[in-house]
Amino acid sequence: VVAALVGVDLGGTTIKAALVSPQLEVLRHERAETPLESMRELIEALEALVRRTGEGADVRAVGFGLPSQIDQRSGRIADSVNVPLADLPFVEEMRGRLALPVRVDNDANVACLAEARMGAARGTRYAIMVTLGTGVGGGVLVDGEIYRGAKGAGGELGHVVVDEDGPRCQGHCPNRGCLEILASATGLIAAYRTLLERSNLHEQVELHRGVTEMQARDVLEAAERGDDAARQALAIVGRHLGVGLSSFVNIFDPEVIVIGGGLSVAGERIIGPARAEMQKRSLPFSREGVRVVPAVLGNDAGVLGAAALVAAEAGRPA
Ligand SMILES: [Zn+2]
Repeated sequence: VVAALVGVDLGGTTIKAALVSPQLEVLRHERAETPLESMRELIEALEALVRRTGEGADVRAVGFGLPSQIDQRSGRIADSVNVPLADLPFVEEMRGRLALPVRVDNDANVACLAEARMGAARGTRYAIMVTLGTGVGGGVLVDGEIYRGAKGAGGELGHVVVDEDGPRCQGHCPNRGCLEILASATGLIAAYRTLLERSNLHEQVELHRGVTEMQARDVLEAAERGDDAARQALAIVGRHLGVGLSSFVNIFDPEVIVIGGGLSVAGERIIGPARAEMQKRSLPFSREGVRVVPAVLGNDAGVLGAAALVAAEAGRPA
C-alpha cells in the first residue's frame, strides 16, 4: 500500500476527485454529482467521494479546491458561488470527518498552483493565472507560492476594473466593468449579441431571435465555423482581458501569464488580442519577456492543484 493524496475539485454540477501520488501523478479518477439542496448533503457527498477515491490506499492528506472565498486564518468558508457552502468551518468539519490533514483553497488558486507545479508555468516563480468561465478567476504565484493576502481573499484578479462605466458586475460584487463581467461567458454572449444587433442583415436578425438562450459554447462553435461576429466577439473579450493583463504585468512582474477556464478553448482568438493589448498598455520594462500562454492541464488542473496543496504531507510518517 503506497502513500497517496486525494485532490477534490468541487464544481456547480460535478465533484471531481483523484487519488494522486506524492509526485502528483493521477492514480485514479472518481466523480459524483454535486448536491445543491443543502450544505449538509454537499458535505456528506464530499466525504463519501473522498472515502471512495482513497479506498485501498494509504491516504495521507486531502486537498479541496472550492468555488468559494475562504478565510485562510481559520479554514472557514465565507461564501461560495453556485454551491451551498457559506459561513462554515470547512477545514475543521472535514478534518473531523476524515481524521486526516485537510487544506482548502479557491478553485482559481488551485488551478494556478497546478499549472505552476506541473503545467504551463512549471519552472517559474512569478506567474499569473486567469481562468475564463462563468466568471473570471485569478491566481498569483509570488516567489513560488500562491499569494493569498492577509485573510485569504487576495488574488481576485477577475474583479479588476477595465471599464469604470461598464456593466454591473455579477454575484456579490458591487463594482462595474470588472473583467468578471466583460471577459467571462456573460461578456462573450453580450459582445456577440451587440454585434448582431448592430447589423441590419436579415439572416442575422433571424439568428438573433434564437440567441436569447445562447450559451458561450454556441459562440465558440460559431467562431470555429467561421462566423465573423463570433470571432469579433472573442477578440473583444480578448482585448478586455488584455487591459486587465497590462495592470497585472505592471503590478506583479510575472514571467508568464496562463489563460485557462472554459473560454480558453478559443485559444489564440482570445489570447492573441489579449497579448497585443497587454503589450500596448503595460510599461515597457515590465512587459519585457512576459509570455501569455494557454493552460495545459485542462480538466485535471483542479484535482492536481488540490492535491498539490497537501503534497508536503505525503512524506510525513502516518
Ligand atoms: Zn466585480
